[in-house]
Amino acid sequence: QKAEWAKLVNEPTVSADNHHVELVANIGTPNDLKGVTANGGEGVGLYRTEFLYMGRDQLPTEEEQFEAYKAVLEGMAGKPVVVRTLDIGGDKELPYLELPKEMNPFLGFRAIRLCLEEQGIFRTQLRALLRASSYGNLKIMFPMIATLDEFRAAKAILEEEKQKLLTEGQKVADKIELGIMVEIPSTAVLADQFAKEVDFFSIGTNDLIQYTMAADRMNQRVSYLYQPYSPSILRLVKMVIDASHAEGKWTGMCGEMAGDETAIPILLGLGLDEFSMSATSILKARSLIRNLKKSDMEKLAQEVLNMQTTSQVIEAVNLATTK
Ligand code: PEP
Ligand code: MG
Repeated sequence: QKAEWAKLVNEPTVSADNHHVELVANIGTPNDLKGVTANGGEGVGLYRTEFLYMGRDQLPTEEEQFEAYKAVLEGMAGKPVVVRTLDIGGDKELPYLELPKEMNPFLGFRAIRLCLEEQGIFRTQLRALLRASSYGNLKIMFPMIATLDEFRAAKAILEEEKQKLLTEGQKVADKIELGIMVEIPSTAVLADQFAKEVDFFSIGTNDLIQYTMAADRMNQRVSYLYQPYSPSILRLVKMVIDASHAEGKWTGMCGEMAGDETAIPILLGLGLDEFSMSATSILKARSLIRNLKKSDMEKLAQEVLNMQTTSQVIEAVNLATTK
């Protein structure tokens, strides 16, 4: 089977009825690029920049960040690279920031909330990204966006830094797509309004499931609730994809669900445009998608959206994919 998958490294990801989707990779450092290329990744769908900030005792400088971002953009040689701005807090702590302890870190001062408050940290990262932008196909996304005001504030800061760099005579790419992660139910529910202002969505199901089901993604005792195939999650995913398409925008997914064999047929049917997963899952997913008809999966998606339980959904997928 592995040998069969290996033949697909340079093949496009098209369904049996010729619908193209993009299979891209989640990475944490520039070193991960080798795996992306080896596994036929069509780009990077999530570069988790936190790792630049972790395992050290002070913030990375603009120069250090610039070098890392440039390396990733050059390494992907013009293929799309979606960089997520700093998503610290929750499960990812930075001891040197000395933030006060919180009762509920996952519901607290993290990610974009922290960046909008600690603007020095945010601006340094954005400058490094903007300076690197002319070395490849950069797209930027903000994590944990809950309101349009947050998106607008973050975008305004990005614009300010861009103008400063241009005034300094630095090169910045003309067009950098700007998107948000959909990880908070409020944002999925309001996706039609967000879609008017963002260039793309990337659904972060790892957090979206936890916040929708009120079930900690790390807690074994409530893992029975943490279910990607729950009809409630599928409906949120559909809302986001439909909202983006209504405005001529695209939607990706970068949570674990995007690489899940049971989820992929449904996501294909719902019209997801980009699937971002660990590099080692890409060839298997490509092989699966090439054997599915999008038109059949659209019918499956329609069916499962109207089901009542997770187990019904899983059963329906099994039935539709084992012909
Ligand atoms: C997610 O929440 O789905 C996601 C991709 O982000 P992380 O796993 O880094 O929280
Ligand atoms: Mg997340």
